[in-house]
Amino acid sequence: MSATTAIKVRFPPSPTGKMHLGNARTALFNWLFARHAGGQFLLRIEDTDKERSTPENITFIHDALKWLGLGYDNEPFLQSTRQSLHVEAATRLVEQELAYKDTEGVTRFKVPAGATTWADLVQGEITIENKQVEDFALLRSDGSPTYHLGVVMDDIFQGITHVIRGDDHINNTPKQIMLYAALGEPVPAFGHLPLILGPDGEKLSKRHGAVSIQDLRAEGYLPQAIFNFMLRLGWGHGDQELFTVEEATAAFDISNVSKGPARFDAAKLKWYNQHYLKTLPFGQILPHLVPFLPDGAQTHKADLERLEALWPDLTARAQTLPEIVTAATAFITDPTRAYTAEHTAILLEGHDALHHLYDALSSLPEWQEEALKAAIHHQVEHMGGNFKAVGRPLRVALTAATGGPDLARIMAVLGQSEVLRRLKVSLHHIHENGGHHH
Ligand code: GLU
Repeated sequence: MSATTAIKVRFPPSPTGKMHLGNARTALFNWLFARHAGGQFLLRIEDTDKERSTPENITFIHDALKWLGLGYDNEPFLQSTRQSLHVEAATRLVEQELAYKDTEGVTRFKVPAGATTWADLVQGEITIENKQVEDFALLRSDGSPTYHLGVVMDDIFQGITHVIRGDDHINNTPKQIMLYAALGEPVPAFGHLPLILGPDGEKLSKRHGAVSIQDLRAEGYLPQAIFNFMLRLGWGHGDQELFTVEEATAAFDISNVSKGPARFDAAKLKWYNQHYLKTLPFGQILPHLVPFLPDGAQTHKADLERLEALWPDLTARAQTLPEIVTAATAFITDPTRAYTAEHTAILLEGHDALHHLYDALSSLPEWQEEALKAAIHHQVEHMGGNFKAVGRPLRVALTAATGGPDLARIMAVLGQSEVLRRLKVSLHHIHENGGHHH
């Protein structure tokens, strides 16, 4: 592609809150469009809503893009820094009689007769009769530029060749195309992405739960999962569901974006998350896991090693990072301090079994899963084949929980001295609570 036609797309969010999933998907599609074509992905911050454009909201944009791996190719700027240039342009249009100041002091664009047509990259050809478009505002009565003026001026300034955005902007496009023409500038290509709907068919919003990148991150989703999930919101490549970043970049073609709305499917997001929890190297997940770990465990080498050893077991059930931490609590905190009244009752009932197990396990020559399974099995037979009479108290003694990964596996990961220590604590606890060995 020659330098004069090099593709430039942009992401111009208004920093009015957290980064909505729909906005992040728009950023992703622009990013992929640029990366696929060897073009540029440019960021600018449309901070013209003075009340809601806070530094915190601007931070949300930068953090979300960075976290998702959507790097941009420019030094981003705030739209407000170019306001005086926007005002000058409006003044010129008034001088050329292409715009006028109305009786209330609002500067309006004079919509010409005719029709406006564009070949939408997603929706196909769209034609709008100009008589359906009102003389829209360029400057408010306080003299400040409107969105239409700012967005067109800045897209011209940045040399944008393709405007890819949500289809809630379709009605803005004829206005902006007319404005390009009036300013004597070439009109970029436009593509409008389908809306994302919630499970109930309504536009995806906070009512549907976590729908910002910040909230999804706090709920324990990995960026790889959200990236892949967003990619499939309105775009497809055959029936492929899983894409690496490289595969997505190679395959991305805007003509494969569907015209109809996409639907947010929470179960699918969880499926993606579990897939990446299972398949990414532990070291790559660890930085995302750390904020969810209990205090102390983040830096405790033995805890992290146990987590890694148990990772396949934990991710077989858990779909989010906090779910993993809950399932792994027994390995990353000392559970013997957390026996509840229910646990105590189970321990008291299992007193004999625990005593015998303690003896058998202290003299076990080989500390590996098969031998540990055999030791449990032996005790079960001794108790007349009642697995529950052994498994329940043992699990409570070791993990202060009534469910979790396989017991032999847990013991193998904990190691002999830690298992014996925990059993000893549980036996002590039984004595303190009036239990007697028969
Ligand atoms: N700041 C606008 C928004 O966030 C940009 C819309 C556009 O892409 O033109 O909706």
